[in-house]
Amino acid sequence: MDAPGISVRPLVNMAGEHVFNEIIFDNVRVPRKYLVGEENRGWYIGMTTLDFERSNISSAAQQRRTLEQLVEYVKEQGSGNKKHAHVNGAGNGVKPKLAELTIENEVGRYLSYRVASMQERGQIPNYESSAAKVYHSEYGQRLAGAGLKMMGLFGQLREGSKHARLRGRFARTYLTSVGSTIAAGTSEIQRGIIAQRGLGLSRI
Ligand SMILES: Cc1cc2nc3c(=O)[nH]c(=O)nc-3n(C[C@H](O)[C@H](O)[C@H](O)COP(=O)(O)OP(=O)(O)OC[C@H]3O[C@@H](n4cnc5c(N)ncnc54)[C@H](O)[C@@H]3O)c2cc1C
Repeated sequence: MDAPGISVRPLVNMAGEHVFNEIIFDNVRVPRKYLVGEENRGWYIGMTTLDFERSNISSAAQQRRTLEQLVEYVKEQGSGNKKHAHVNGAGNGVKPKLAELTIENEVGRYLSYRVASMQERGQIPNYESSAAKVYHSEYGQRLAGAGLKMMGLFGQLREGSKHARLRGRFARTYLTSVGSTIAAGTSEIQRGIIAQRGLGLSRI
């Protein structure tokens, strides 16, 4: 990272947070001793790295915790003990939606188990990790959107507001989840991999 020609420009995401950068390589010379694998095979190493990045095993667990928090929130609000009890559209599709999100979360968990079991056997998951990636990214957006809606106007408040619920988790996740269907390869790219590598369909 200290080599001449490398510059790092911070990127601030739409949630107002700086968690990644744009890194520019301008005629950077890399000493031979840093060569990873064989010369001219960098693309394959890059793609294999992406297969692992897309494995996304932690997502199902994180999303499970988010879902459990939402279920607890809805239960608490429904008990009527809270001063500012509020669940948007309570009794109007909230329970079936939570049930659906729970089923979807279980599906995601098994997609992750498949990837984990392949990794355990020393295999490189390819279309299997793309399936987990596209599923978790899109599920994360559905979960965040559903939570935001159930909390009504409270859902839009970020941590720091005294009226925020669950420390503004859903407002934040709703914003950060937008980029997830782009990062590590867009959903279209994942579906392309699943179609070609998983189903054996042609590139066109
Ligand atoms: C939150 C976030 C974090 C990121 N972190 C990193 C990081 O740490 N490191 C890093 O290197 N990059 C990172 N990226 C960049 C990310 O990898 C790219 O944005 C992503 O791969 C998409 O590439 P692109 O933006 O060039 O879009 P493009 O490839 O130009 O795609 C534009 C549109 O065309 C569609 N498209 C493109 N090709 C095809 C095709 N063959 N078939 C069908 N549709 C297609 C895409 O789906 C998309 O809708 C990050 C991006 C985000 C949003």
